[in-house]
Amino acid sequence: AMNQQDTIISLTETYSAHNYHPLPVVLTKGEGVWVWDVEGRRYLDCLSAYSALNQGHRHPAIIDALTAQAGRITLTSRAFHNDRMGKFLQLLCKTAGMEMALPMNTGAEAVETAIKAARKWGYTRKGVPQDQAEIIVCNENFHGRTTTAVSLSSDPDTRRDFGPFTPGFKWVPFGDAAALAEAMTENTVALILEPIQGEAGINVPPDGYLRECRRICDRHNALFVVDEIQTGLGRTGALFCHQHEDGADPDMMILGKALGGGVYPVSAVVSSREILGVFQPGDHGSTFGGNPLACEVARASLRVILDEGLAERSRYLGARLYERLRSLNSPRIKEVRGRGLMIGVEIDKAHGPARPICEALMRRGVLCKETHEQVIRLAPPLVIQESEIDWLGDQMAAIL
Ligand code: PLP
Repeated sequence: AMNQQDTIISLTETYSAHNYHPLPVVLTKGEGVWVWDVEGRRYLDCLSAYSALNQGHRHPAIIDALTAQAGRITLTSRAFHNDRMGKFLQLLCKTAGMEMALPMNTGAEAVETAIKAARKWGYTRKGVPQDQAEIIVCNENFHGRTTTAVSLSSDPDTRRDFGPFTPGFKWVPFGDAAALAEAMTENTVALILEPIQGEAGINVPPDGYLRECRRICDRHNALFVVDEIQTGLGRTGALFCHQHEDGADPDMMILGKALGGGVYPVSAVVSSREILGVFQPGDHGSTFGGNPLACEVARASLRVILDEGLAERSRYLGARLYERLRSLNSPRIKEVRGRGLMIGVEIDKAHGPARPICEALMRRGVLCKETHEQVIRLAPPLVIQESEIDWLGDQMAAIL
């Protein structure tokens, strides 16, 4: 007879499209850094829903904000004002060092919003001829799954069978400032990149690259846009990953994931008045974007990151885990890389793919997921304790 877990998986696989290949574990409860499966086994969550759970599962302050707001009003649409959006966006802009924000729901929608803003800025402010705007993106980027977001992708598996694609994008190798300078034309309106490429396998660019990108964009009057959906809000040991370099402040920043505290989908584009000022009523929108429930959850989520010093925690606990993993000297590990608690452990191909290692970790009570065949991503909630980091190090040591 099938156990409870297998029964649930079979039901799910029957009725759900197979656009994911999850580990065979069925979760039913989460608290802080821990999750429990339906058989009562406990796991350390080392994926954090791709960094959407920086504050941990069901952070009490965020759940309080959610339930309190649910008792007042949840959705107004942008046809009317609500009394929560301004307060949230004020904190968001202050935190990001920006002037204006445009709230959306998912990461991919915020990416689309940034592309529309950059194009309209190009036509109305820079004077690019209509429909000639070019946006430069990086090889191996990941910006989401909508048709325009996959149009940015350089990965054949991401694109196959989904064309035709949105035109107007150009690709340069990530980390190569000379190639970027070469690709710029008078019709370039923006460079969009992840300051560390997450889905590509935790690719960290050379020191000084982001600053160089900033300079090149300035020289060509193009917008420097960073997608900090995964790297932002403390994950890499700074509030925003671009802050690891001086002189790399972006014109526009795209945020999502942890902005909703793992509770509710919230994303946003933050930028200047000049840039976001290009939008006029009727240009762009979203039924749910900026709804009062989302705004209260997001404001509480930001407060937790700031008040609990989660960026700082990520920096020192990440350094501790990084040192431990480096000191393993395992022949199976080709490289350990990352910043803060965004760590990629690349498994040497000679020792097989990363997936069986993730399955072995699961049996030891650690949940993580491989990315791009060979890389194990370790990204626990930033509220993790030092003793729990050390326990994670012990599990990695036992398996590798
Ligand atoms: N951009 C980056 C850098 C991401 O990591 C992701 C999600 O993994 C996205 C965009 C897309 O976000 P969403 O899945 O919320 O659409």
